[in-house]
Amino acid sequence: MKREFRTASAEETIALGRELAQELAGSRMVLLRGDLGAGKTTFTKGVAEGLDAASQDDVTSPTFTLIHEYRGAHNTVFHIDLYRIENERELATLGLDDLMNEEGNLLLIEWGEKFPRLLRDHDAEIIFTRLSDNERQIVLSTRPTGSEE
Ligand code: ADP
Ligand code: MG
Repeated sequence: MKREFRTASAEETIALGRELAQELAGSRMVLLRGDLGAGKTTFTKGVAEGLDAASQDDVTSPTFTLIHEYRGAHNTVFHIDLYRIENERELATLGLDDLMNEEGNLLLIEWGEKFPRLLRDHDAEIIFTRLSDNERQIVLSTRPTGSEE
């Protein structure tokens, strides 16, 4: 299932993340796709807020730390950036499988599409496209677990 949204500011993208948070929490792994600056981290701020896991200012890019964890009452959001991860062996050291197996965990992954295994295992993907300085197209695709498309 595919749904398209448009936002006209970072604040609107945060608000969209907040609105979709409960629904996304039903997934385990969500790929956030799009160029640098497209709005992936901005959207994550809203999701973390929507799940009472963090306030938007607490959510920063995990570019160097690779994984940031935000714990809410019912869900824990893991914001993961694989930009610097170069191969499957490095990926394995992050222990994403363990995180995936725990009830209530939501993994939001930037640059996860680099790895076939994550392309295969994700429950949903959100594609961010920059339309202008402040406008973004945001397309959410969810799929039944185990399906290839
Ligand atoms: P990414 O994680 O995809 O690299 P970020 O969320 O870190 O992108 O950065 C997006 C940048 O674009 C931020 O500086 C943000 O303020 C700006 N921006 C402008 N308009 C929007 C919008 N509509 N949605 C999201 N971010 C926007
Ligand atoms: Mg980012």
